[in-house]
Amino acid sequence: MNEIDLLITNANLATMDLALSSDATTESSTEHNDYAVINNAHLAISDGKIVGLYTDSSALPKSKTTIDAKGGWITPGLIDCHTHLVWGGNRAREFEWRLQGVSYQEISRKGGGIASTVKATREASDEQLKKDAATRLSRLMEEGVTTVEIKSGYGLSLEQEMRMLSIARQLGEEHAVTIKTTLLAAHAMPPEFDDSDAYIEEICQTIIPQTVQAGLADAVDVFCEGIGFSVEQCRKVFEVAKAHQLPVKGHVEQLSDLKGALLVAQYDGLSVDHIEYLQASDVETLKQSDTVAVLLPGAFYALKEQQLPPIDELRKQAVAMAVSTDLNPGTSPQASLRLAMNQACIYFGLTPAESLAGVTRNAAKALGLGESKGQIKVGYDADLVLWDVDHPCELSYGVNLSRPVNIFKQGITLK
Ligand SMILES: [Zn+2]
Repeated sequence: MNEIDLLITNANLATMDLALSSDATTESSTEHNDYAVINNAHLAISDGKIVGLYTDSSALPKSKTTIDAKGGWITPGLIDCHTHLVWGGNRAREFEWRLQGVSYQEISRKGGGIASTVKATREASDEQLKKDAATRLSRLMEEGVTTVEIKSGYGLSLEQEMRMLSIARQLGEEHAVTIKTTLLAAHAMPPEFDDSDAYIEEICQTIIPQTVQAGLADAVDVFCEGIGFSVEQCRKVFEVAKAHQLPVKGHVEQLSDLKGALLVAQYDGLSVDHIEYLQASDVETLKQSDTVAVLLPGAFYALKEQQLPPIDELRKQAVAMAVSTDLNPGTSPQASLRLAMNQACIYFGLTPAESLAGVTRNAAKALGLGESKGQIKVGYDADLVLWDVDHPCELSYGVNLSRPVNIFKQGITLK
């Protein structure tokens, strides 16, 4: 092998490589080796990729740079696969209302909720939107997040949805992070429309085709809910997305069981997100469509939800479970994926290994990046984090106790 770019020596690796885990046929077991650990390992990196993984230090390639991990733990770079981090304004007042007992649905009906963020987002300048979003993004990146999904959905017109997605794309160009963009025009009703069917037509006839033509979206999402859009309306959106070869996903079964998850599965969707009200009997369908279950414990926490997602059944059926922040101004104002990992354990009963898989391997899969990110293996992107922990379970256990020592983005040392 020619001289490589970077050699990281003396590391303990939580590879999250499914092929190495204790039970490769079961996506989620509670065994220790669900971290797919390789102790005393050395990683060779070139051109942004992992090109070698060694446990024998006598056979290491020559390298331009060498970093001694001194026995520290390295995981794949963390992936936040569900955020709304571009928004205008501030919803702190609603936080006060909710504490006085007003429900999310009532706030929505009062013209608060998403509608107030739509107004503030539309009124904000490009510069202001980008500056505020960059601050939130940097909060995630400081924690070792190297890939982030960003949705539109506060613009709700062709021009404004494209503006949000364009800002998200710019964030990816200006920061050392991979950004995947998702068109979420079917998030709420824009004030210009009274008839939700007419707005769905606008999404299908104009917003999706033109966003695709501009190359701004990697996927299409919907809010399938009583206060969002019906299953039949979401189906129309998915039909058009499919016609444009865009993968789909859905905010489904967050507040009620409309069977949105089954619709997403019918379209071989990337992920079903929230799913507190998903019936255990519907889980098998997700397995068949290889759809990821994205758990959003930050929203569960902020809304003081009581209904738990069907974790046992997801585990039993070996449906891949991802964990994400759902970072948004209303129901999950939480720019910490590490906190979401802890919440997924505390509220949903995930093991720390499942929680880590949820922000690495399974989050990558939820973004269609399962073949290049989320695991430490030869051929994968060298998105890596070296942590100041004695065991990877500490990453889910503590809140603000441990931090990245080094963050590597496609082989470049960020910290
Ligand atoms: Zn969301």
